[in-house]
Amino acid sequence: MDFDSLFKSQIDALKAEGNYRIFADLERRRGAFPQAGCHRDGGVGNVTVWCSNDYLAMGQHPAVVQAMVDTVQACGTGAGGTRNIGGNTVHHRALEAELADLHGKERALLFTSGYVSNWAALSTLGARIPNAVIFSDAGNHASMIEGIRHSRADKVLWAHNDWRDLDRKLHAVGERPKIVAFESVYSMDGDIAPIREIVEVCEAHGALSYIDEVHAVGMYGPRGGGVSEERGLAHRIDLIEGTLGKAFGVVGGYITGSDALCDFIRSFASGFIFTTALPPAVAAAATASIRHLKSSGTERAAQKAAVALVRAKLDHAGIPHMANDSHIIPVMIGDPVKCRMISDILMEDWGIYVQPINYPTVPKGTERLRITPGPNHSDADIDRLVAALGALWKRCAISHAVA
Ligand SMILES: *Cc1c(COP(=O)(O)O)cnc(C)c1O
Repeated sequence: MDFDSLFKSQIDALKAEGNYRIFADLERRRGAFPQAGCHRDGGVGNVTVWCSNDYLAMGQHPAVVQAMVDTVQACGTGAGGTRNIGGNTVHHRALEAELADLHGKERALLFTSGYVSNWAALSTLGARIPNAVIFSDAGNHASMIEGIRHSRADKVLWAHNDWRDLDRKLHAVGERPKIVAFESVYSMDGDIAPIREIVEVCEAHGALSYIDEVHAVGMYGPRGGGVSEERGLAHRIDLIEGTLGKAFGVVGGYITGSDALCDFIRSFASGFIFTTALPPAVAAAATASIRHLKSSGTERAAQKAAVALVRAKLDHAGIPHMANDSHIIPVMIGDPVKCRMISDILMEDWGIYVQPINYPTVPKGTERLRITPGPNHSDADIDRLVAALGALWKRCAISHAVA
């Protein structure tokens, strides 16, 4: 078997449909973000990053950087093993306490990423709750879909954000243990779930509610506890999952919930048990970031102002973007080749980095640029972005209708 030619032929098929992924070689520079170095053709250029999930620039916040540096100096680099074998460190415990407090829950449990936390928690719940059925929003992230699949539990898809459909489907299943998995902010369309209605439906059916707040933690709510905090619903949700890698600017994932729920996942989840714990310095940096964002609204306010300004200027320039109530601005292109080309021109001619979002991240025909303004994008950065998009819209004759 010639494996390499098999690999290459599948890659060639991706290239032919315009969905081959090319990553930019970026060099983040502390203090300069969203400006960054970009390595290409043996040289280094400067780019403005417009698609980062380091939404609040916490990845370069002095308190976060200092916590990581101090803890590396004090503890060294790695955790030295899984928590089963290497033990807990005070930094992991402190971070879990911080997270439990953030969401008003009894306990939290850390994972190496948000992906792993969803995968491990859902696969454990689905596999170990006898006769369970998992009700999954049709727009759920790959990490939840894979966790549910791995659990081998029965799965029922409900129409995206449609709590009436959820209600009907929960009713149809009758007396079985039910788990309802959904997100607060959906990352590609930037739409926000009707959380109150979903929670009420869950309560009416005695279902366990599971929310992914990955794109909302640090960003929404007076203390950055997510949309569930903002809407006063956190105490009615059984499990809140989040990441430390986006608005908190570090890396890692977690779940929060009751003491029994977290202890159950801790005790049975392969994705928790059999992998090396996060480095203590990462845990300390995440703790510093969460603490900062619990008491400071400055970053959130500046970020919201930048989002509003970008939207207003896009409107003024006649560039269509999807309306939503979040910080995510999808600019629809609707074609993978054009999407890639626009992204390339933005980079080459304007020093603007916006990664094209193509299939399978979004459905075919809904290819887009996903713009995430941050607190440190200046008015000049924003003007430049809108001028570049305006020029490209003329040049590429892209539809001005919102997809
Ligand atoms: C990014 C993302 C994750 C995974 O989080 P990581 O910490 O990046 O692994 C989970 N859920 C959603 C909705 C995401 O967008």
